[in-house]
Amino acid sequence: MPLVKTEAIVLTARPLGDTSKIVTLLTPQRGVIRAVAKGARRPKGRLASGTVAYRVIEAIIYLKEGRELGHLSEAHVIWSAPRIGGNWRLFLIAGTLSETVLAVTEEGGYHLLRTSVELLEGGIEPRLVMLFFFKGLLKAQGLWPDFTSCVVCDGDLSGGAMLDTPDGRVLCGRHRREGYLPINAGGVRLLNEVERRSVLKGRHADRALESALKACLSLAEYHFDLRLRSDKLLAGAEHLLERTGRG
Ligand SMILES: [Zn+2]
Repeated sequence: MPLVKTEAIVLTARPLGDTSKIVTLLTPQRGVIRAVAKGARRPKGRLASGTVAYRVIEAIIYLKEGRELGHLSEAHVIWSAPRIGGNWRLFLIAGTLSETVLAVTEEGGYHLLRTSVELLEGGIEPRLVMLFFFKGLLKAQGLWPDFTSCVVCDGDLSGGAMLDTPDGRVLCGRHRREGYLPINAGGVRLLNEVERRSVLKGRHADRALESALKACLSLAEYHFDLRLRSDKLLAGAEHLLERTGRG
């Protein structure tokens, strides 16, 4: 029975009977591992604290040949996310990001997801975190278009742009056509610079955030065929953020 020792993010932890859980773990090298955590529902159980969603753990897992479910034998907490755990809006967003990583890339998404969850926990504006995450995911797949100059005339796009989602092309306003998604100047700037520390920590106009996120999600939905709960979750999260996130 191979023994695996690995760092992992707990993506989900569902009850199994009265005392145990089934956890879904995302690991840096082995993608997704699902495992039974015996006794993890007992408050003082050895595995209780290491089997909570969005905690990063050092795990020891026994994997059985031909079995889908492993057996989690140790789970030491390396990093926890109390803010996300106590705020269901953030929890919902973290869930959407996890679900997307699982649907799109089981192998490569560990570091991107971990960084994104850390940014959420660190109090970064959630829409910026979503932008950061989806840009990272699209870039990793070679699906991120150039938002700095028009693909047709090479004109500068810092004043605003049009996104041709199906062809993954970005154009200036002179080539406007029906079906293209307009992006305002603030949105273009965020799309180009979201991974910069100063941008992540800065304050941005709602209309810039919304424009950038809309463009980014349009690409993600198109390329990844995201017919997941994410659409509704994101819409719900956005709605809530609009209502309660200001000020
Ligand atoms: Zn142009």
